[in-house]
Amino acid sequence: MQESTIIDGKKFAADLRQRVAEEVTRLDALHNLTPGLAVVLVGDDPASQVYVRSKEKQTVDAGMQSFEHRLGRDTPEQDLLFLIDQLNGDDTVHGILVQLPLPDHIDESKVLAAIHPDKDVDGFHVNNVGRLWTGTDAMVPCTPYGCILMLKQTLGDLSGKRAVVLGRSNIVGKPMAALLLAENCTVTIAHSRTHDLETRCREADILVAAVGRPEMVKGSWVKPGATVIDVGINRIDAPEKGEGKTRLVGDVDFADASKVAGAITPVPGGVGPMTIACLLRNTLVAACRQNHIPAPEI
Ligand code: NAP
Repeated sequence: MQESTIIDGKKFAADLRQRVAEEVTRLDALHNLTPGLAVVLVGDDPASQVYVRSKEKQTVDAGMQSFEHRLGRDTPEQDLLFLIDQLNGDDTVHGILVQLPLPDHIDESKVLAAIHPDKDVDGFHVNNVGRLWTGTDAMVPCTPYGCILMLKQTLGDLSGKRAVVLGRSNIVGKPMAALLLAENCTVTIAHSRTHDLETRCREADILVAAVGRPEMVKGSWVKPGATVIDVGINRIDAPEKGEGKTRLVGDVDFADASKVAGAITPVPGGVGPMTIACLLRNTLVAACRQNHIPAPEI
């Protein structure tokens, strides 16, 4: 039985963070410019607090400025929009990230539209979505960008490969498909209404799973030798670890799929670590573009 290559997201992410930090040092030395990232958290969702703390720490570790804005969960939408307006006008802030999800009384689309597209390091603004699909310089959403970096470094040229993206969300599935298309893959986007999902997936040289369904993709769904990128992060009960204990799994049944795949990302330790590293990369690129300095090719 073949052994698949494990795509080590932690290592890819550490390498990318290192390259970003080196470029930040160069930017300071040559242009006296320090990229700055503002992170806005509304409310006290525990998972969001963990993500935000991690983003802030890694921003500072990369030599950038981190601006933290923590607002109470009852903050009126108007106050959040006012803060974004201030950050849009602040020359020391090159990237603005509003942590999602937002409390129900705040209109997420209004908030995302209020962020200046050049500072939209999450790449969710419609201008950036349009730029991505039309092949113009865009801020690219971090998670799919991390996936495409790992794919290119693992496989080299992706041209002509058949790619199936499982999931069509605005933050993962659709931008992932756009990036694969830009690399000249032949792309299928599959979703909850797709017929014969297993057969569609088995056609893929590159299979990206972003559905939020624990271990849905089995080994029988994977073409032998295919590269499998598992974006899913699902917390499930783990009775074997004791009462009330949980563990993280992806959208792919790793034990089963890794017997068939040529290369595969694990969960945890695959796509996840790349997401924040790409956020730092986007902040660096944003700082360069806003100051009319050529952005490094990373
Ligand atoms: P989402 O917005 O809930 O979208 C899920 C997509 O999967 C939808 O397009 C949905 O189809 C499709 N889907 C759901 N059940 C399906 C099924 N049984 N068969 C086929 N398609 C199905 O999720 P998301 O935000 O894209 O996130 C997906 C996963 O990635 C989650 O586990 C999330 O936690 C994880 N994630 C990880 C990172 C990271 O940094 N690693 C970042 C973002 C997200 P319809 O459109 O037809 O409903």
